[in-house]
Amino acid sequence: MPVTVASEWLNSCSGCEIAILNIGEALLGLLPELNFTHIPVLMDHKYFGQTGDQEQMDIPESVVGIVSGGIRNQEHLEVAHAMRDKCQVLIALGTCATHGGIPSLINQFDNEELFERYYRTSETTDPGPTPNEVVPPTLDRCYALDEHIKVDVYLPGCPPHPDHIAGVVLALLSGKAPELPTKSVCDTCPTRREGKGEVREVLRFLSNAQFDPAKPLSEMRCLLEQGLLCMGAVTRAGCSGAGDGAPRCISARVPCRGCYGPVKHDGNQMIDMLNALASNGIDVRTVVDRYSLLRFSGGHRRLRQRPTATT
Ligand code: SF4
Ligand code: SF4
Ligand code: SF4
Repeated sequence: MPVTVASEWLNSCSGCEIAILNIGEALLGLLPELNFTHIPVLMDHKYFGQTGDQEQMDIPESVVGIVSGGIRNQEHLEVAHAMRDKCQVLIALGTCATHGGIPSLINQFDNEELFERYYRTSETTDPGPTPNEVVPPTLDRCYALDEHIKVDVYLPGCPPHPDHIAGVVLALLSGKAPELPTKSVCDTCPTRREGKGEVREVLRFLSNAQFDPAKPLSEMRCLLEQGLLCMGAVTRAGCSGAGDGAPRCISARVPCRGCYGPVKHDGNQMIDMLNALASNGIDVRTVVDRYSLLRFSGGHRRLRQRPTATT
């Protein structure tokens, strides 16, 4: 009998849903095993009945729940709780769900700063009041799922690699615990490391890496040793899929931006990255915008007290 699956997208860009489709032919093999009970990206299934006449949110009881996106407003919060209540096993799909992801960059600003900018001082918007009807009330910041509900399986990545999405679903179908990468991006990177680099000041992303395009990655000097802010040391591996390919950005000869989140779920990429820079001989005071980075440190686990010293 097929396993029932409910899927939801909260503070999400839908890239994670595209990653599910990118499972490709293997998805065709999985589909007979799955019975989607609720999946807004594909089916127009209303929360409160087709005519809006129901009092309770209508998410059917399901064995597996898949949620992408973090929690930013009251609607996200209520849907997340409904998914938790109705699903036996809940998967946080993508770094927005596991850690807040790109949208949690907003956590370095208060809502008032955001609304002032968005509704009144943006060059492309006619000034107006902050809307308080129709749109769901905004929470004080962007949250990862597990800051509000219990999560059973964390599947980070922006988006997660389709191999790992399929692997998690297959594992759950066969009653096993999913196996996901536990190493860092650096652990899977073939570039040439020589120890500390010669560069003492961090280069911005706009700076190009030095490499010979005719030569393989194994002959390119590690990007961090070249002085680029490559976050491979503090980022979970997995973006190259289930095989032993090189990390995606490194394959494109650009630094890792850390999109898979910390190597350990509760790690702090920013603090670990400052350590990685220092141990590579790079002066952390040369990191541009480090004040913003420190304000944001920890992503969703925002430092409540903004630091007063930044050097
Ligand atoms: S994790 Fe990335 S791809 Fe997935 S919803 Fe967030 S921003 Fe989009
Ligand atoms: S810092 Fe970047 S380039 Fe260097 S080994 Fe790690 S992932 Fe590869
Ligand atoms: S190299 Fe880093 S930023 Fe690029 S896809 Fe992999 S984890 Fe994400």
